[in-house]
Amino acid sequence: MLINYKNLKTFFFDLDGTVWNWRDFNPQMRHIIEKLEKKHKKVFFITNNTILSQTGYARKFSRMGLQIAEEQIITAGLVAAKYFQAKGIDRVYAIGEQGLVEDLSAHGITVTDAARAVLVSYDRNFNYAKLKNAYDLIRTGAELYTTGRETSWIVGTEKYPAVGPILAAVEAATKKEAINLGKPSAIMKQRILDDIFLFPEDCILIGDELSDVEFGSSCGFRTAVVLTGIVDDNSVKEAQGTLKPDTILRDINEITRNL
Ligand SMILES: [Mg+2]
Repeated sequence: MLINYKNLKTFFFDLDGTVWNWRDFNPQMRHIIEKLEKKHKKVFFITNNTILSQTGYARKFSRMGLQIAEEQIITAGLVAAKYFQAKGIDRVYAIGEQGLVEDLSAHGITVTDAARAVLVSYDRNFNYAKLKNAYDLIRTGAELYTTGRETSWIVGTEKYPAVGPILAAVEAATKKEAINLGKPSAIMKQRILDDIFLFPEDCILIGDELSDVEFGSSCGFRTAVVLTGIVDDNSVKEAQGTLKPDTILRDINEITRNL
């Protein structure tokens, strides 16, 4: 499908594999974002990566030379925090890193070893003791949540296991299936539709995984995939239904060429 980028008002970008390889912007991305903002398009970033909080990502952008407001960044940690807040859950056991703890704390959620909710996320310090604690809590009635199911992500040129394998350990031990609060869940979708004033037909989501496409489709947005991240040409071509993007962006400059 040919997309008329000029007519679109709101651009949602996935971060890892799409905007950057974590260390550096992917080619042209910084320029594309600057140009979209100059043309008064609304730009948002959606990520399941909870290494950083919403505030942390704004700082990272700033260090990389782009001024992005916190409100333009939607992390799975933020979605989780607001979800727990709305449900009156104020204590959570989190397998995750500092960014996740920051997003939760900023919304009044206490991160503690004893809680009725277990939230699994990416954690480079995941270990047996954490698995055991999650196992004990869930066996005695705690609910299991996750910030996503990605199997891998890219830092520089190297691929790393993501939250998926960590979650698999917890799910295998407890025989419970986690409720996903990140992309492509309905909970993440509702957060975006509640927090951002938009008409879905004016929006596009650009990502590097078929789950990004699935998420964008579920929101009623146009969808595009880039080939700078996880997904390859063949998997995109074989994708069907809600996993099939409207377009493959082989040249990211297409977005801004006719703005
Ligand atoms: Mg990605």
